Amino acid sequence: MRLLNKIPLRLRLTVLTAVVLTVICVLLTMSSVFTARQMYAVPAEEFNLSTSPTNPSMKHPPDNAMMPTSYTTDETNNNFTYASVVYMFIMIVLGTGTSYFIAGKALKPVADLSKRIETIDESKLFQRLEGFDSNDEVARLAASFNQMIRKLERSFTHQKQFAANAAHELKTPLAGMIANIEVLQLDKDPSVQEYKEVLDDTLTNAQRLSTLVYDLLKMNNAMNADVCESFDAKEMFDDIIFALSEDRKVKNVRVKNHVSDIMLFGEKALLQRAFFNLVQNAVKYNKTNEEVVITAGRNEDSVAIHIKDNGIGIPEEELESIFEPFYKVDPSRSRESGGSGLGLSIVKTIIEKHNGEIVFESEMNVFTKVTVVLPKN
Ligand code: ADP
Repeated sequence: MRLLNKIPLRLRLTVLTAVVLTVICVLLTMSSVFTARQMYAVPAEEFNLSTSPTNPSMKHPPDNAMMPTSYTTDETNNNFTYASVVYMFIMIVLGTGTSYFIAGKALKPVADLSKRIETIDESKLFQRLEGFDSNDEVARLAASFNQMIRKLERSFTHQKQFAANAAHELKTPLAGMIANIEVLQLDKDPSVQEYKEVLDDTLTNAQRLSTLVYDLLKMNNAMNADVCESFDAKEMFDDIIFALSEDRKVKNVRVKNHVSDIMLFGEKALLQRAFFNLVQNAVKYNKTNEEVVITAGRNEDSVAIHIKDNGIGIPEEELESIFEPFYKVDPSRSRESGGSGLGLSIVKTIIEKHNGEIVFESEMNVFTKVTVVLPKN
């Protein structure tokens, strides 16, 4: 059987058909030879019976007539057996040949499909398999392949876009640093104040680079973790609020944790990172002296966490785009707050990894509310 798996499908089908055909033909030939021998044997036996002394009433045939009948019966039997075996072999050979031909015809669409698939590589992901309009397995296979290629194409485009955006984001602070240093070099006698300014600028740009690289690393880690546990949501938000002490001070934003008696299930460090980003954004994009309120609810099979701020808001038409890597509603504001535009992309990756959902609602200059729904386990 293992050997069979190594040979082409067409040959495999032919070999299997040949085996079945041979078994059937042999059985059929054996049964017909056996039946024929039985039938041809009857007259001879009857004849022998008729000559027996126990049946004297029967008429005795002439002595010379008995022997030729017996010979004829044996010879006919042998001839029949011989002819049957010859026909059996002819049938097997013809049947096997026909099955090889039919298997070739039946598998032709599969061979065509595989030839067409071989021509599609990473540079031709826009190509689709067309012309498989029948309603059979091959057409379904072609449709599935097209679907897979569509997903691959989307993912490739996404990756290319991501790499281009990442390169651009890395290039901007680097270009700033180089330009500052070059200007300083052109100045024959730079003052201490000029040195200080260039150093300050360089530090800001280096910090931006560091944030970006750190975010890229986080994004990569978000794809890889997989140890799940149950943990208390209130405690997690208390830790996050504590870790955001400095950010809160900048705009004097209060964060109220109204979560109680809610357990979350998942990769703790990842979920903590996701909620940290959301609360940080709620603080960062809030108005001065405002507050952020965190609440939670649960039903039979899921837990919902709401984070609401009274900040600058997000335009309705941008609510979907904010999850795209490097997307910033207002680039200058994000730059000011040191954001890389990767935060929500990381959050979404983490939430989707936990089979959860994330939804933003917002009204410009009034509020932004994020709802994260996670399955209980
Ligand atoms: P960044 O690191 O620049 O903050 P994010 O991916 O975290 O990037 O957010 C993407 C964009 O979504 C931000 O540039 C910001 O404009 C907007 N945004 C996110 N959260 C909020 C919020 N709570 N209020 C207003 N705008 C927000």
